[in-house]
Amino acid sequence: MLVAGNWKMNLDLAAARQLTAGIVSTVGKPKNTHIAICPPFVDLDATYSILHGSGIKLGAQNMYHLDSGAYTGEVSAPMLRAVGCHYVILGHSERRELFGETNQSVSQKAIQAKTHKLVPIVCVGESLAQRDAGVHEGVVEEQVRQSLESLHVGESSELVVAYEPVWAIGTGRTASPEQVTQMHTHIRSILVELFGQKIGTGIDILYGGSVKPNNALELFSQPNVDGGLIGGASLNADDFASIVASADKAATIRF
Ligand code: PEP
Repeated sequence: MLVAGNWKMNLDLAAARQLTAGIVSTVGKPKNTHIAICPPFVDLDATYSILHGSGIKLGAQNMYHLDSGAYTGEVSAPMLRAVGCHYVILGHSERRELFGETNQSVSQKAIQAKTHKLVPIVCVGESLAQRDAGVHEGVVEEQVRQSLESLHVGESSELVVAYEPVWAIGTGRTASPEQVTQMHTHIRSILVELFGQKIGTGIDILYGGSVKPNNALELFSQPNVDGGLIGGASLNADDFASIVASADKAATIRF
């Protein structure tokens, strides 16, 4: 299991330090769950100093697909590695919707992340209109294939996929356990086809979209759900710790 907190564009340096310290002191040491937090770029270095030794991994929320150069405003994979990042979120729906991210750009970035030994957390998910039109499985399948098919994955731990239905992000509305199971099972079958049985079955598929302390255990107990990508609730140490505890409980029940 993996629980990753996506802080989005929240928390300045002082607030990031405070929340990180709060998370370190509340999450404890779960047996079967890895934990990551993904603060804004400017908070990464300070956050890493506090996380160091805690077992909690650091992630970024985006990166550019080249090493360095005249790309004003961008941040590269080597830079993320240098401040202690282990993960990088790629293709979050907010980046796809607001900043023109495409499956092709996500693919380029995922290849670059892997080249620099960052683990990409590749986000996919359909809009409400696509779900209502009944094309959600096809949309997500295209996102998974086009974002991942050029990747070389030698170990399942080198890649994470996050299914985040756009209509559930930040809305307080979660996908039902049945909807989650159906999509995660579909994604699993594509991963097995792309990367083979051993690697495809081992890649973590996270669910994201209004995961809260009161629904986390049920969502994480579904087949092929290997944890969560948490937005709003990751900004509160107690809520985040409770979600981590639910993931660990679900892992204990499952294995
Ligand atoms: C997210 O931003 O990835 C997310 C899932 O947000 P929230 O948990 O707030 O819906």
